[in-house]
Amino acid sequence: MSNPAWAYEAPLRDMRFVLEHVLDAPAAWAACPALAEVDLETACAVLEQGARFASAQLQPLNGPADLEGCRLEPDGRVRTPAGFRAAYQAFVDAGWPALAGEPAWGGQGLGLLLDGFVREMLDACNHAWNMYPDLLHGAAATLAAHGSDELKQRYLRRLVSGQWLAAMALTEPQAGSDLGLLRTRAEPQPDGSLRVSGNKIFISGGEHDLTDNIVHLVLCRLPDAAPGTRGLSLALVPKVLPDGSRNAMSCEGLEKKMGIRASATCAMRYDGATGWLVGEPGRGLAAMFVMMNSARLHVALQGLGHAEMAMQNALRHALERRQSRAPGVRGEHAGAADPIARHPAMRHALLALQAQVEAGRVIAARAGLALDLAEHHPDPARRAAEQARAALLTPLLKAQLTRLGFEGASAALQVFGGYGYVHEYGVEQSVRDARIAMIYEGTNEIQAIDLVQRKLLGDRGAALLALLAECSSEAQACAAEPGLDEFAQALRGQCDAAHAALAALLARHDPAQVLALAPDVMDALWWLLNAWAFAASARAALRAHDAGAQWQQGRLDRMRYGARWLLPRATLHWNRIITGAPELPELQAAQ
Ligand SMILES: Cc1cc2nc3c(=O)[nH]c(=O)nc-3n(C[C@H](O)[C@H](O)[C@H](O)COP(=O)(O)OP(=O)(O)OC[C@H]3O[C@@H](n4cnc5c(N)ncnc54)[C@H](O)[C@@H]3O)c2cc1C
Repeated sequence: MSNPAWAYEAPLRDMRFVLEHVLDAPAAWAACPALAEVDLETACAVLEQGARFASAQLQPLNGPADLEGCRLEPDGRVRTPAGFRAAYQAFVDAGWPALAGEPAWGGQGLGLLLDGFVREMLDACNHAWNMYPDLLHGAAATLAAHGSDELKQRYLRRLVSGQWLAAMALTEPQAGSDLGLLRTRAEPQPDGSLRVSGNKIFISGGEHDLTDNIVHLVLCRLPDAAPGTRGLSLALVPKVLPDGSRNAMSCEGLEKKMGIRASATCAMRYDGATGWLVGEPGRGLAAMFVMMNSARLHVALQGLGHAEMAMQNALRHALERRQSRAPGVRGEHAGAADPIARHPAMRHALLALQAQVEAGRVIAARAGLALDLAEHHPDPARRAAEQARAALLTPLLKAQLTRLGFEGASAALQVFGGYGYVHEYGVEQSVRDARIAMIYEGTNEIQAIDLVQRKLLGDRGAALLALLAECSSEAQACAAEPGLDEFAQALRGQCDAAHAALAALLARHDPAQVLALAPDVMDALWWLLNAWAFAASARAALRAHDAGAQWQQGRLDRMRYGARWLLPRATLHWNRIITGAPELPELQAAQ
C-alpha cells in the first residue's frame, strides 16, 4: 500500500532562490566557457522536469517497494520491486543520467550544482530506487580520469547514458572502515587482463534486473602488493564480458535490512572473474577516491532529501492536527483545540528543521558550484581554490546532512505523534531509510577524521582560512544592510572562534588529543557554515522581490530563528577545541 499521507512538493522556489539570489550561479557559470549556456531559465526548466519525474514516477513506488523488497531468484538473478525497471528505463530515455556527464562521452555537461538539486528530489521521493543510478557519475568520472583508452571506449558512453549501471565493491567481512585489511586478489594474465577472486559484502546494486550489464569497480590486491592501503589496486569487472558471456561472479545473498529495502545490498563472489586494471598498480585507492568523493556528496543529498520531505509533511500535519489550546489564544470553551503548529514545542521542532534544511541546501549548492568552477573556470588559481573548497566541504556535508536527514525524519515522526510510528503515514519509512546514510560511504566518524587530519591539518588550515575570508566578506555585506546587523555579528563571532580553534589545533602535537576533538570540530565548523548560510540567505531574501513580501518575511524569520536559537549550540564545541578536551578514559569490558 502506498502512503496517502506522505506527499512531496519539490522545493523549486527555494532552489531558484539559492541559484539566483544567494549564489548568483548564472554569473559564475557564465565565467566558464563550458557552462556559459546554462542560464537561470534553462536551469529552472531542468529542475521543473526533474521534479515532475521524481514526483510522478518515483514517489508512488516508494512505499510499496519498501514492503515488497528485492528477491534473489534460484538462478542467481535479483528482481527489483514492481515498477523499478520501467521507472529506470524512463529515466534513461529522458536523458537524466547524462545531465552532468562529459559531452565528449555523450553527456549534457550541465554541471554538478544542477545535478545535485535533481538528485535531492530523486532521493526525497525514493532513496532506495536512486541507489541504483547514484553511482553512475562517480564511476564514469573514475574511468574518465584513470581508465585506459580501451576501457573508456568500451564502457564510458554506456555509463554516461545509463545504459549500463555501476557498482562499487570495496567492503569485505573483515574490511569495512579500514580498507587496508581487504584481501580480494587480482592475478595478471598474459593478455593484460586480471583474474579477480574474493568475497565482497554489502555491495549496493551488485546484481539487479534494471540493466543488462553492471560494471563493478573492485578494490583488490595484485600479487606481492604492499600491505595496507598502499597495496590496493582498482579493477573494472563487468557482469557481462565483451563477447557476451557471463563473467565468473555471482550474488550469493541479499541483506535483510532496516531500511532502503528496495535497494539490493548484495554479497558478491568473484571467482576468477575477468577484469582490467583502472589506473596504476598500487594506486587503486587514489583512483577510487574520485568515485568516493562524488558518492559522498550524493549521500549528503540523500540526507537533505529526507530532511526536506520530513519537514514538509510534518509541517502539513502540524497545521491540520488540533490538540489543546495554544498559549495566548483567547476564549476558552469546552472542546476547542488549536493546530499543534501553534504550540511552542512544535514550533521549535519545525523551525529548527526548516532553518537547517534551507541552510543545508545553500551549503550543498555552494559545494556543487565549487565543483563546477574547479572543473571549468578558465583561471587555474581559481580552479585550485574551488577544488580545495569542495574538498573541505565534502566530509562536512556528508556527515552533517545525513545526520540532519535521520534526526529530521525522527523529529518529523515526533510531530506526527503515534501516527508517525505506524507504517501508513510514511514517516517511519523515512526514519529507517535515512539511517544508513550515516554509515555507508565512510561512516560519519571517518568523515570527522578526514576533516581534521586531511582537510584542516593537511594544509595547515589554508582551505579553512579561505572560507573564513569569504565569511568575513559576507558579514561585512550584511552589516551594510538595514536590519541584518545581528547576522553580521553572529557570523563574525563564529569566524573569530574558528580562527582561535584553528590556532589551538595547529599547536597540539598529540594526535590522540586531536582525534578526541574531531567530533567537536565537525559540529563547530558546521555551525560556522550555517551562520554563513543564514546571513547570505537573509541578505538575498531582501533582494528577492519577485518571490513576494510574505515569502521574503518567512525566509528572514527562519534564518533569524537559526541565528538566535541554533547558533548558540556551537559554543560548547568551540570552547572544547580552544581550551582543550578533558582526558578520554579507555573503555572496560562490561562487568
Ligand atoms: C545498506 C548498505 C549499503 C552499502 N553499500 C556499499 C557499497 O555499495 N559498496 C561497498 O563497498 N560497501 C558498501 N557498504 C558498506 C559500508 O560502506 C560499510 O558498512 C561502512 O564503511 C562501515 O564499515 P563496517 O560496517 O565494517 O563498520 P566498521 O568499520 O567495523 O565500523 C564500526 C564502527 O566503528 C567506527 N570506527 C571504525 N574505525 C574507526 C576509526 N578509525 N575511528 C573512529 N571510529 C571508527 C565506525 O565509525 C562505526 O561506527 C554498504 C553498507 C550497507 C549497510
